[in-house]
Order: sequence, then structure tokens, then C-alpha cells
Amino acid sequence: MAGLLDGVEVLVAGGGNAGICAAIAAAEAGAHVLLLESLGPEVRGGNSKYTRNVRTASHAYPADEMLADLLKVTGDGINRDLARFTIEQSRDLPEWMARHGVRWQAPLRGTLQLGRTNHFFLGGGKALLNTYYRRAAALGIRVEYDVRVTEIVMERERLRGVWVDRRGTRSFVKTGALVAASGGYESNREWLRREWGEAADQFVIRGTAANDGLLLSRLFDLGARRMGNPRGFHAIAVDARSPRYDGGIATRVDSVSLGIVVNAEGKRFYDEGEDIWPKRYATWGKLIAEQPGQIAFSIFDSQAYGKFVPACYPPHRSETIEGIARELRLDHAVLRATVDEYNQHVMPGTFDRTRLDELATWGLTPPKSNWARPIDKPPYYAYAVRPGITFTFLGVGVDEGARVVDANGSALPGIFAAGEIMAGNVLSNGYLAGFGMTIGTVFGRIAGEGAAHYARQRSPD
Ligand SMILES: Cc1cc2nc3c(=O)[nH]c(=O)nc-3n(C[C@H](O)[C@H](O)[C@H](O)COP(=O)(O)OP(=O)(O)OC[C@H]3O[C@@H](n4cnc5c(N)ncnc54)[C@H](O)[C@@H]3O)c2cc1C
Repeated sequence: MAGLLDGVEVLVAGGGNAGICAAIAAAEAGAHVLLLESLGPEVRGGNSKYTRNVRTASHAYPADEMLADLLKVTGDGINRDLARFTIEQSRDLPEWMARHGVRWQAPLRGTLQLGRTNHFFLGGGKALLNTYYRRAAALGIRVEYDVRVTEIVMERERLRGVWVDRRGTRSFVKTGALVAASGGYESNREWLRREWGEAADQFVIRGTAANDGLLLSRLFDLGARRMGNPRGFHAIAVDARSPRYDGGIATRVDSVSLGIVVNAEGKRFYDEGEDIWPKRYATWGKLIAEQPGQIAFSIFDSQAYGKFVPACYPPHRSETIEGIARELRLDHAVLRATVDEYNQHVMPGTFDRTRLDELATWGLTPPKSNWARPIDKPPYYAYAVRPGITFTFLGVGVDEGARVVDANGSALPGIFAAGEIMAGNVLSNGYLAGFGMTIGTVFGRIAGEGAAHYARQRSPD
């Protein structure tokens, strides 16, 4: 390929947070680094450009507490040692990030109360990525856009290089080490359909259309261990009017815990007040994916209106529940009965959305365990919501050195992974807000350093 270096030391595939952190760490460890990104510079940054914060352990948020929070949401099926390791390593992130130019801002007020646990980037993920890309340029890292890595070539147990595609032209790039940081498989409809059947056609992909899992499947072909639940993903409730890709953060619907949620049959199906919203918001995408037609409706009244972070679309509004049912094309008698039944089971108590207020229903199935107030103060509001897939959890197995390992735990020589592509080691079912960037930053740094070392020490061909 014209212009691409022949014989680079470290090649990073993917230019999101994990990839750019790996590139910076590799360059700082003395390696010649080439970063290849499948999309153009104007949309660079993958899903990372949509982010706002990173979760880290600290004095105020001990590692044990963070691990307990993670285990509570993600359940079994993860590598607990690696999860603990990730959390321990996260302590250093704010300092490392600040050293590379990242600036912070006060946490957003609203339904995600994350001030103690998460750091918010000044200007959000785009500013974060731009800062890192400037740092990368200063370090002499070469970045090539519109180049998709399509194959990984190993010969006699040695990494040779990768095949790439730039606008239909195929070329081979030789490299000493590879960092795979090309995200999950969430934008690959065919793969999603294999796991979720036709329901996948209704999924909204919140991030980039480029994370198609090609390198993930190539690594599996090379014998990489599979980690994480193949059906596992971070998925939230997004407005049903969202674009199919790249809606970003603005389409999220945060009203769930302040009202009730019904399916297309007008029936409630889950406890809307199960836990503090940041710990539970990511269960709703999957819950909606399991409902008929993969659609649901968040319904609330004027007491809740304005008390959550608004989505970019206005909610449906009516003076009556019957009017709301008409707007949503639900059976109005069924919706009326659902709201009445819920209202009759709400117990007295003091509402406080900043904590588990135990303002609950009594004798209702499913229950609402917190923030349960009758829905009886017009006007009434509703959002139609769909599963909004953020990223998938199926990944390649890695060790603490971010080396990709096979089923026996042996490293695939010269191949490292960071970010969503290895998130399945530490995420299997649920998700903890801000942990995606923790994973990418922790393992990006480790992968970059490890790849630089590997490339430097490897014997000549
Ligand atoms: C709307 C939204 C909001 C989010 N908010 C947060 C948040 O506030 N905090 C948080 O922790 N997490 C958040 N996340 C999750 C977070 O974005 C991810 O966990 C994280 O960005 C993953 O980083 P990554 O580098 O692995 O992937 P990405 O940032 O997606 O980068 C992968 C890159 O690889 C490129 N690529 C793909 N295939 C190839 C290939 N074959 N060759 C070359 N390049 C390729 C893609 O174009 C992309 O640029 C959010 C996600 C979304 C969608």
C-alpha cells in the first residue's frame, strides 16, 4: 500500500479510546507505532467519542466496593482475578489521563449520580479523543484513516503482519506486534441475528457502524479463547425514533425509574425501581429486547417530568391515560387497568430519588421497590423505547499483560487486545456505568507497553 510503513514495530488496529491509549503507551515505551482506523478522521473515535466518564477506584471509592458493584451487576462467568486487577489498576487512571492532557468537569446532575465513583471528561469523549490524538501526533505516532484491518497473518507460531483494505485496495503490512482494539461486534446485524434471531432487526446501535467484529472473529479463528456471554451486551432504553446507528448519548431515555414501563400488551414486566439508576439502567435494553416486538413504553406523570436527564426527543403528552394509550397505539382499557392496579398498590412513604427510598408497592407483581408514586398527576407523558445496544461483551481471553490467550492460557505470540474486544473477560451480563472506559484505558496502556516490549525483544526473522 502506497505510503504505509513497511516493517512497523507496533501496529494498533482501531482508533477508539483503547487503541489510542495503546498507541501512546507503545510510543512512550520507545516503539515506532502505526495506528490504522477503518473510518475517516471526521468521525474518528469509535464508540469512545460518545462517552462522558470513566469509573475508577480511589480512597473515596475503595477497590472492594467497586468489585462488589461490578459483581452485583455482571453476575458469574467473568474472570474475577482479572476484574480485581482491572479495578486495582484503575486507581492510576486519572493521573495518567491528566498527564496526557485530559481535563475534568463536575459530574452532571440528574439520574446518574456518579460524583464519587466516576470522573467526567471536560468536553466529553470527543474532546478526550482529540486530546489523545494531539498527544499521539506529538509522539510521532503515524495514524492512517480509512484503512480496515481484515486479516492477521501468523506463520510458524510467529506474527507476520496484517492484511488491510483501503477503499478496495488490499495490502500487507508487516509488524512486530499487534494491538487489536477494534471494538465488539455490535454493529454486525448478521452476527446479532445469530444470537438474538429476528429480534436483532429492531435493535438500535447507539455507536459506530464500524464495530463489526471482523478482527474478533479472526482472533477466534487463530485459537483465541472465547470470554463472556455471546448474547451479552450493554443495552439501554433508547427512544424508538432514534437512528439505527450513531445516535450517541442523546437518544437515551432516563425516565424509567420515575414511572412504570409497559410492553406492547400494556402490561408491566419488571421492577422499575430495583436499584439506583446507574447500576440498573443497563438492564433495560435486554429486558425490552425480550418483549413482544422489542418495544416498550415508559409512562410517567407531571411529578416526574423534568426530574431526569431529557432525551433529544420530546415525550408524548396527554391530559389522560387513555390519550397516552391512543398516542402509543396501546389498548386504552388495558393501560388504564395497569396504571390503576399499580396506583392502588403504592404504599405511603417519602420520595427521594437520590437514594433507595423504599417507597415501594405492596402485593404487586412485578413489584416496584423504590420511587413508587401513584401516576395520577396530569399531564401524562410517555416514551416508546427500543433496545439501544452500546457494545457487546463477547471477547477474546487475555492475561494481565493484555496478551491474547488460547483455551490453555498460552499467549498468541505478538498479539495483544484492549477495550471492547476483550471486555468479555470482565463483563458478562450487566454493566457498571463508566467501566467501558476503565477497561479500554487500563488494558490500552498495558497492551501498548507490552507490544512495544515484545516487538523490541523479538528475534529478527
Ligand atoms: C452512546 C455511548 C455512550 C457511552 N458512554 C460511556 C461512558 O460515559 N463511559 C464509559 O465508560 N463507556 C461508555 N460507553 C462505552 C464505551 O464507548 C466503550 O466501552 C469504549 O469506547 C470502547 O473503546 P474501544 O476503543 O474498545 O472501542 P471504540 O471506541 O468503539 O473503537 C473501536 C475502533 O475500531 C475501529 N475498527 C473497527 N474494526 C476495525 C478494523 N477491522 N480495522 C481498523 N479499525 C477498526 C472502529 O472504527 C473504531 O474507531 C458508551 C458507548 C456509547 C455507544
